[in-house]
Amino acid sequence: MRQRHKPWADDFLKENTHLIIPNPEQKKGKWQELFGNDNPIHLEIGTGKGQFMAGMAEQHPNVNFIGIELAKSIIVMAGSKMKDAGRDNVVLLHVDAADLQELFAENEISVIYLNFSDPWPKKRHAKRRLTFHTFLEQYQHILQPEGEIVLKTDNQGLFEYSLVSFSQFGLKLEDVTIDLHSIEDSENIMTEYEEKFSAKGQPIYRCRAQFD
Ligand code: SAM
Repeated sequence: MRQRHKPWADDFLKENTHLIIPNPEQKKGKWQELFGNDNPIHLEIGTGKGQFMAGMAEQHPNVNFIGIELAKSIIVMAGSKMKDAGRDNVVLLHVDAADLQELFAENEISVIYLNFSDPWPKKRHAKRRLTFHTFLEQYQHILQPEGEIVLKTDNQGLFEYSLVSFSQFGLKLEDVTIDLHSIEDSENIMTEYEEKFSAKGQPIYRCRAQFD
């Protein structure tokens, strides 16, 4: 995703600590306390500008959503969107997903969304893919046993790689489709990338994967 320097980003982060949570490792095991309820927590990794999180938070008021985004110039755009939406069931974390076990306790998360993750096509970069086995180990730790990973992408290479990686790790695959938009799914919330690629006529790949 294109990053442009945002001179207002640092001020936005300082002024919106209720939306983009500072020192999130201090909330490990206590995320439901932060939301003030017992609702399940769904996590999106690589939230981008936040369209999916904002739409999901509105569609599912009884679910708590956490969006993780590495790029400061992008997370402040997501934060700005959440501020406009005014919902209390979504927060964002400006962190790298490489350290998820520092942020979440065992079984603290119910669903993980990987939407249009960077494909890292070169073989030597495979370990950066969010479906590389080291990430799956972390997901297994923080997900409840019946929890699931939901992956959407326009990238055939990443999709095929992820299906193999999930299977090799022993995950059970469900709802595998190579053309999500040909299926009637009124609940599907489109991400920014999904809108962009489907407008160009590219198919959207989707699958769900469960550890148990
Ligand atoms: N999910 C959004 C969508 O579908 O429109 C954005 C997709 S964009 C291709 C991938 C996003 O993931 C970028 O904003 C990038 O900064 C973020 N990202 C990549 N690796 C990450 C990581 N290890 N931790 C957190 N965010 C990451």
